[in-house]
Amino acid sequence: MKRILLVHTGGTLGMTGRRPAALKPGEFFRTLKSRVPELRKLAKLDLHLFSNVDSSELQPESWVQLATYLHERRDDVDGVVVTHGTDTLAWTASALSFLLPNFGKPIVLTGAQRPLGEVRSDARLNLVDAVTSASAGPKEVTVCFDSHLYRGNRVRKASVSEYDAFDSPNFPPLGVLGVDARFEPGLASSGKPQLAAKLDPRVFVLKVYPGLDVELVLAMLGRVKGLVIEAYGAGNFPVGERRSLRPLFREAKARDIPVVVVSQAHRNGVDLSLYESGVVAMEEGAISGGDMTVSAAAVKLMHALATFDAPKARRGYLERSVAGERT
Ligand code: ASP
Repeated sequence: MKRILLVHTGGTLGMTGRRPAALKPGEFFRTLKSRVPELRKLAKLDLHLFSNVDSSELQPESWVQLATYLHERRDDVDGVVVTHGTDTLAWTASALSFLLPNFGKPIVLTGAQRPLGEVRSDARLNLVDAVTSASAGPKEVTVCFDSHLYRGNRVRKASVSEYDAFDSPNFPPLGVLGVDARFEPGLASSGKPQLAAKLDPRVFVLKVYPGLDVELVLAMLGRVKGLVIEAYGAGNFPVGERRSLRPLFREAKARDIPVVVVSQAHRNGVDLSLYESGVVAMEEGAISGGDMTVSAAAVKLMHALATFDAPKARRGYLERSVAGERT
């Protein structure tokens, strides 16, 4: 049997019921054993309580801590399952994909829309599927939810209450867990496992909308080290007479603040050469985020800022796919 490390971070999966209170740690593991006894038939489980919080409490420091813990435990396990609240699960999955290059073993994040102790909970199936995926699935960071396995840095939370809580609009599933569990090969490791647990959280995500006052954004630029702009469509924003964003690109360039442009549209990605505003942004040094999700782009930028001093190296890192996060 494979040896799987199950790390609990919190979220609905481990809550007591409709009233949002987290199960006490001991109670969580007891509930896990009584509600999903078959997990023990699938793998030799090693349980670890990392935290027991709503995932909105998890921060970049938590990702660094979690990555460090997984790196330390890597050699004694065959795969990892991380149980996590669904709200920021896509963020943690992206972070682990950048902080643990060449981990070389499956790291599967999962959660639930209903607590484990409830009759109609989706937690049971998600846990069984996650342990199955951690034993036999692709050796990269993935998200297992509602009978599907997705690349971790490609997902976004798409539903608040339906069981198919996640989608991966720009990358096909890496596994389908139906009557049989079928997996794609996934990313190949290209070197020794590393712990690259460095992040600079001074990144601001700016959503473009009609009426956006560029002066407001300029006023806070002194506190920002990197900017992700969620633009319209293929990478558009006003550059005309009213409320032009051109001064923002110019000022960011002058301050050596990298600007990554992603799209508010979920399918496909940014192409800055298509329209005038994209061309303006490119001339001012903006970086196309291609088809990255907002969470993948923001975490990757935090990682790039903490890892590279030279603007050219940062740009190169942001523009290429480093963990399968962009096409
Ligand atoms: N608020 C919860 C969390 O993200 C939601 C969930 O787990 O589904 O922790």
